[in-house]
Amino acid sequence: MKHIRALSAALLPLLLAVSLVACGKPGSPPVKGPQPEDLPVYKVSADFRLPQSRTWEKAKRRGRLVVGVKEDQPYLGEKDPASGRYSGFDIEIAKMLAASLGFDPKTIEFKTIASANRETALQNGQIDYYVGTYTINDNRKKQVGFAGPYFMAGQSLLVRRDEKDIDGPDDLAGKKVCSAAGSTPYQRLQREYPKAVLVAYDTYSVCVDNLLTYQVDAVSTDDSILLGYAAKVPEELKVVGTPFSKEPYGIGVPRADNALRLALDDALEAHEKNGDWKKAYEATLGLSGVPAPTPPPIDRYPAS
Ligand code: GLU
Repeated sequence: MKHIRALSAALLPLLLAVSLVACGKPGSPPVKGPQPEDLPVYKVSADFRLPQSRTWEKAKRRGRLVVGVKEDQPYLGEKDPASGRYSGFDIEIAKMLAASLGFDPKTIEFKTIASANRETALQNGQIDYYVGTYTINDNRKKQVGFAGPYFMAGQSLLVRRDEKDIDGPDDLAGKKVCSAAGSTPYQRLQREYPKAVLVAYDTYSVCVDNLLTYQVDAVSTDDSILLGYAAKVPEELKVVGTPFSKEPYGIGVPRADNALRLALDDALEAHEKNGDWKKAYEATLGLSGVPAPTPPPIDRYPAS
């Protein structure tokens, strides 16, 4: 067992490479990531000021905006290991909002933060805001603030293509199911499907590695994330069933900084109205096969 575990990390890139070659019909190119030339260019607001926001003031003085993201979620937040560059829908949301706050994309520093560490990173000032499949809920609102939502996802299941027994969460009794520590999908499985055998890692890509090497039977998280993994290796993986939760994605901000939160809400609304949101979606998350939805209504909740 230990043996297999050690092998799996080395095996995954090979498996992915083989699958990418295998799934290309003659003449059809392999599945690619977002293409830079398809991405919108966001107008940087030169005269924007937000003196009521401590976070904005600090970032302005520093000359850099530090944004927390994910780096292993295809079409959402993905880091190219060769160039170090980040791409995906969440990255585009981060960039369009930064432009409205007066920050050129060149002045954004992206920092990878795992699901379980988001609240702490915002609380201790490691990042100015966070854009990475971050579900807004009341529990988290006690610790951080949320602008948005900017997208609506739902919890779902990823299995191997040859899986016959799992079609939805009710089939998980006795099955090994992997999710990320500190995530809402992990908490929901624990609470509502106690017969599933839960396995937690820091990231979903490690879960997918475990699925491909037969160490777990399913990976559970948001459909938006799972569709990206499935789109990369459609010969190996499939998403099954219908989503069984609502996961509204928000932009995490320090809890006390209501000025920043509301400025981000205004910026998001402007980019939804001028077409940037849709263009960004189509060049990124749209590549995993789902046409652009209408963004959910923005929730400018009162400060407390
Ligand atoms: N949206 C869910 C959450 O915030 C799952 C995705 C993630 O872990 O980022 O927990």
